[in-house]
Amino acid sequence: MNQIVLRKGRERSVLKGHPWVFSGAVERGDAAAGELVEVCDHSGAKIASGWYSPASQIRVRIVHDAPIAELVAAAVARRGDFFVNCYTNAVRLVNAESDLLPGVVADYYAGHVVCQFTSAGADARKNEIADALMKFAPGCAGVSERLDVDSRTKEGLPTEPAFSVLAGAEPPELVEIAEGPCRFLVDVRKGHKTGFYLDQRDARAAVGALANGADVLNCFSYTGGFGLFARACGAAKVTQVDISADALALARRNEGLVHLCGTAMEYVEADVFQFLRKCRDEGRKFDLIVLDPPKFAATKGQLMKAARGYKDINLLAMKLLKPYGLLATFSCSGAVSPEFFDTVLAEAAADAHRSFQVTARTRAGADHPVLLSFPEGAYLKGAVLRSLD
Ligand code: SAH
Repeated sequence: MNQIVLRKGRERSVLKGHPWVFSGAVERGDAAAGELVEVCDHSGAKIASGWYSPASQIRVRIVHDAPIAELVAAAVARRGDFFVNCYTNAVRLVNAESDLLPGVVADYYAGHVVCQFTSAGADARKNEIADALMKFAPGCAGVSERLDVDSRTKEGLPTEPAFSVLAGAEPPELVEIAEGPCRFLVDVRKGHKTGFYLDQRDARAAVGALANGADVLNCFSYTGGFGLFARACGAAKVTQVDISADALALARRNEGLVHLCGTAMEYVEADVFQFLRKCRDEGRKFDLIVLDPPKFAATKGQLMKAARGYKDINLLAMKLLKPYGLLATFSCSGAVSPEFFDTVLAEAAADAHRSFQVTARTRAGADHPVLLSFPEGAYLKGAVLRSLD
């Protein structure tokens, strides 16, 4: 097996359990893309095994010395709780590094599993992984993959075709999933990520619990998630805003899957930055506003630009709240720490001349666990703020 020898002292983070070896930590050694290698300290002693990625800044991803099928089976078994209740039939089965399968994401949508392989090592083993998912995922009809992921480029991996079937049956054009009182159609071929934001499941429920009787504004609605939860929980009115006509079309279809008539629904195709200003100019106010924007910062270098974006929308939303109104606000930028996000929110509140208390904190659900030695895995954070005046 090829050996990758680290520079003096650079073995420390590996020994502490961090799953990445950066190119700058490597003194010598080479291997093919995806090859299993021995990671050695400066003296040449083996300290771990890893998958090699010659094109990537993340040169080696540490893996456990266990057969792939066993790692997949264990990750699926850890989701046992999700398969013994009827709250949802959509769950992340494998959460990459944090499930000891670096660069492997597998999302289960009512029997159809959709994967992303974002490391050379994961890509090289995708058929083995798909076979294991067919075998161990409960009621698995088929396993497919999405290749249109930006991070594959950094690994020198192709991003086309955008979608292909790896094992079993081809999924339907739209897969219908259940999540609590809601039903959603998931576009596994062209939807964001693998089709749905499973990571916001707990936050959607938290927002629903606050929505009874409320006039709700759901910004960056995608296929309607937060807004349809608010509707199912008795909101008086829900306004869903997204820049994507396709996302809104699916949101309307999702509304039609659950037969309720107590909530006035409005769909607005608009840029949220502009829509919030329009509401301000018109003097429109809301009881509950949800802000779940896309990633504003992909890297630490974009942090200040991201901060301006977060501050802008949060400041505008804070001003649009009725007295004692609620703001559920999120950031999925890994480069933005929870502390930094709080600082931005505090600045926005000060500029809005309103004071808020934090009534809840949210993060990705239990099917998106984070390895303790891999804090980078905790990208999603959210807070529910209540205005005190
Ligand atoms: N809250 C959603 C996920 C939001 S994803 C859920 O729980 O499912 C982010 C969404 O923001 C995408 O649908 C994207 O189309 C939309 N978007 C991105 N930039 C936007 C902008 N400037 N104005 C409005 N929508 C935007």
